[in-house]
Amino acid sequence: MSRIQNFINSRFQDAVSGETLDVVEPATGARYTTAPASSYADIEAAFQAASAAFKAWSTTPPAKRSFWLNRLADAIEENLDAFAQAESKDSGKPISVAQTVDIPRAIANFRFFATAILQDASEAYTDVSGRINFTVRHPLGVVGCISPWNLPLYLFSWKVAPALAAGNCVIGKPSEVTPYTAHLLGETLEKIDFPAGVFNIVHGHGPEAGAALVAHPGIKAISFTGGTQTGRLIGEQAGRDLKKVSLELGGKNPTLVFADADLDEAVDGAARAAFSNQGQICLCGSRILVEQSIYPQFRDALAARVRSLHVGDPSEAMTQVGALVSAAHRDKVLSYIQLAKDEGGHILCGGLSKIVEGRCEKGYFVAPTLLDGLPADCRTNQEEIFGPVLPIKTYKEVSESVDYINSKDRPLGLYYFGGDDKEKDYVLNNTTSGGVTVNDVISHIQMEDLPFGGVGPSGMGSYHGYDGFKEFSHAKAVYKQTRFNLMKLAGLVPPYKKKEEKANTA
Ligand code: NDP
Repeated sequence: MSRIQNFINSRFQDAVSGETLDVVEPATGARYTTAPASSYADIEAAFQAASAAFKAWSTTPPAKRSFWLNRLADAIEENLDAFAQAESKDSGKPISVAQTVDIPRAIANFRFFATAILQDASEAYTDVSGRINFTVRHPLGVVGCISPWNLPLYLFSWKVAPALAAGNCVIGKPSEVTPYTAHLLGETLEKIDFPAGVFNIVHGHGPEAGAALVAHPGIKAISFTGGTQTGRLIGEQAGRDLKKVSLELGGKNPTLVFADADLDEAVDGAARAAFSNQGQICLCGSRILVEQSIYPQFRDALAARVRSLHVGDPSEAMTQVGALVSAAHRDKVLSYIQLAKDEGGHILCGGLSKIVEGRCEKGYFVAPTLLDGLPADCRTNQEEIFGPVLPIKTYKEVSESVDYINSKDRPLGLYYFGGDDKEKDYVLNNTTSGGVTVNDVISHIQMEDLPFGGVGPSGMGSYHGYDGFKEFSHAKAVYKQTRFNLMKLAGLVPPYKKKEEKANTA
């Protein structure tokens, strides 16, 4: 493939410095292209293009903006297979996941906000004194969208689609590790003649290109998805500059299995929660808690399920678990497995890196790993590993499970299987998480209409739904005295009186 370039003002270009970075296929460990290693100068060029385009885009009627987003969604869909192959190659995820989740959900995000913009209405409050108060939503200006490597196009579209729909111009900074589908998106924008300067894509290292975007004085808002540490840095900088910021971070999401759960459903859910996308999703169920009376049965069934997962070449349709995204990340995950052993954990299955014979023998694979015997407060049970490693624990009383959930501050997601209403209510009322899913897992990531976001260390701000759109706009409140009595206009005051008078005279 051709080398990846920045897409600024509808033109492909190298970094101003000419610097590049290597892009590696995680399944083989081989470098296959390069991307620009951008710096402040590239962000500045993108900013100039975006601010020049802002006046026209922000005053483009919603129906026309909707047209462009739908046009973009259609063009991605026409090329779905190429996008899916690129996503799988770039990130190491199974092709089936890219084909059925990443790319279709990215398309759905553009379509959702293309439609949402047509349904947008202001809030209005009226009273009998003739006052009518209402809000008018304004776009913010040029905004920065920084996305991670785990669901590259999908999470990029979470941010970019509502930002564009609301009338902002965008500078997107995809993860340096997975820039390929963002580059294809640039090619698609060029192909459909998307208005120049409205949507710019700048590649590069997070601490350089990403930090330059966050620090740029003209950027009005930053939307970021990634690790909590980086989120903190970005939040601090945005706070100093008083920029609007939304952060989607992560955490250690618990899966809770009550004794009356449907065993097959719970085993299937727990495995999907932990090992989807090699465990590299902010919403993965990354620690599991099982009621004591069913523990041995559940643990053995889950271990059998995990052993049966097919780890292999991501480009093959039968592969269920692909490669981790980078050598550094693979090493981090393996170091957590060692840590778990040091903390007294017992490996039930996996526990090692995995060699996939053939073209992938140098790839970054780790066998799906299940372990038990660990105390609640150990690091393996407390820290986000972001890989195919699942610690499992048992509990006796539901209050014990609540203490365990609360031992790690406010996760992004909480899942549970089974439980009568009293138990579920108890858990719900005594824990705080970004979202809760009952008898299923990770589903709220797939709903465009439902607001989604973290709380505390798992994030701030909302994605999806009308809330996602609101993140990228400002509600100006208008207080207006009208010359009319609104109750009269609504036909509510005089007709009643007249009817009463008629009735009295009759
Ligand atoms: P980061 O948080 O570092 O990266 C996420 C995005 O932020 C990338 O685009 C990255 O660019 C960019 N970035 C990095 N540093 C800065 C900065 N100083 N200013 C602006 N942007 C920056 O994630 P990592 O790749 O380091 O992963 C670390 C951990 O974060 C993972 O192990 C996992 O626990 C968690 N994580 C959570 C995700 C989620 O969905 N909530 C997604 C990814 C990771 P670049 O990649 O080019 O450096």
